[in-house]
Amino acid sequence: MIKVIETKEKIWLSSPHMGGSEQDYVKEAFDTNWIAPLGPNVNAFESSIREKLGNNVHVAALSSGTAAIHLGLELLGVKPGDEVLCQSFTFSASANPIMYLGATPVFVDSEVDTWNMSPTLLRQAIENRISEKGVPKAIIAVHLYGMPYKVEEIQQIAQEYNIPVLEDSAEALGSTFNNIQCGTFGDIGVLSFNGNKIITTSGGGALVSKNKLFAEKAIFLATQARDEAPHYQHSNVGYNYRMSNVLAGIGRGQMEVLQDRVDSRRANFEFYQKALSSFQELEFLQEGNGYYSNRWLSCILTPSFEMREKIRLALLEENIESRPLWKPLHLQPIFDNYKKFVDGTSESLFDRGLCLPSGSNLSLDDLKRVTDCIKKVML
Ligand SMILES: *Cc1c(COP(=O)(O)O)cnc(C)c1O
Repeated sequence: MIKVIETKEKIWLSSPHMGGSEQDYVKEAFDTNWIAPLGPNVNAFESSIREKLGNNVHVAALSSGTAAIHLGLELLGVKPGDEVLCQSFTFSASANPIMYLGATPVFVDSEVDTWNMSPTLLRQAIENRISEKGVPKAIIAVHLYGMPYKVEEIQQIAQEYNIPVLEDSAEALGSTFNNIQCGTFGDIGVLSFNGNKIITTSGGGALVSKNKLFAEKAIFLATQARDEAPHYQHSNVGYNYRMSNVLAGIGRGQMEVLQDRVDSRRANFEFYQKALSSFQELEFLQEGNGYYSNRWLSCILTPSFEMREKIRLALLEENIESRPLWKPLHLQPIFDNYKKFVDGTSESLFDRGLCLPSGSNLSLDDLKRVTDCIKKVML
């Protein structure tokens, strides 16, 4: 049993970090009585996201990133019995909406350069499914920990087989590939503003698309699918997935400091990499040419599961929160019966990798406490 030294102040993995003007926008919502899942803060928040992402995208602010994935898959035409290709190395929320729709996930392993969907295995999976069942209905690719996936290769394959891409950018707001913002590459992009993400509305998400009809339809479906009529008239199944105007006020304030948050998280990563550079056996995920990660979480790769656990438990004892990398979905009890195209890459990352405290509000002393603790284990 690890005995956590409770007298030491807790260092969190990734905690909310308000900028200052959030409360003003929330107050505005109260003062004007816009306490609803629509209103001026929602519109302004959507505009600020649109401005940040560029690329003429359209934005629908929703109650969560998971809701955005659910609506996104529905808009891409995913129906019961359809197969959806999904990156295995990700959070379960990437794949759960496939289940909501009665569709079937097919998992694809990662490559080592970005830790995201392997183009080679994606192609194998598509060829196999075409030969056995038919063309998969969609591809869910994820920019995990803020590192862009191999955008060009994945896009090329998706186009070749004419399969739409749902881009799970929940962890990658502020990341870019070739100076283009993540969230704008797929047919539909998804953002999350959950409490642990790079900016937060306490809970929230957004669906993003260059196709205006997708964003409009998402808002329609997210607000109970009301047809044009004075009474309540419905010819579609609707959802209650729209973002509240109160929470969008927090989002407006957070968007003003997004780049500061990216800068701070990138500085955390640089600090860890430099402070631990003498330990050759600790690896850090590097940015390739054209890649710019928001470094949502700073992760280290150790040589073995045992070493990873030693570091994790030593941090825990010091009241420092860290976490193993995402457990691949093809190894999760709920998903382990589904088809998978894997080569052991994500399983090895899960065994050996650790996410270090990465909040944008960490002090230099906090960061030093983390690296001092790791150094003690390594020496
Ligand atoms: C957080 C997250 C989601 C879900 O977003 P919520 O807003 O929490 O519903 C989806 N995919 C990934 C990769 C995430 O990290």
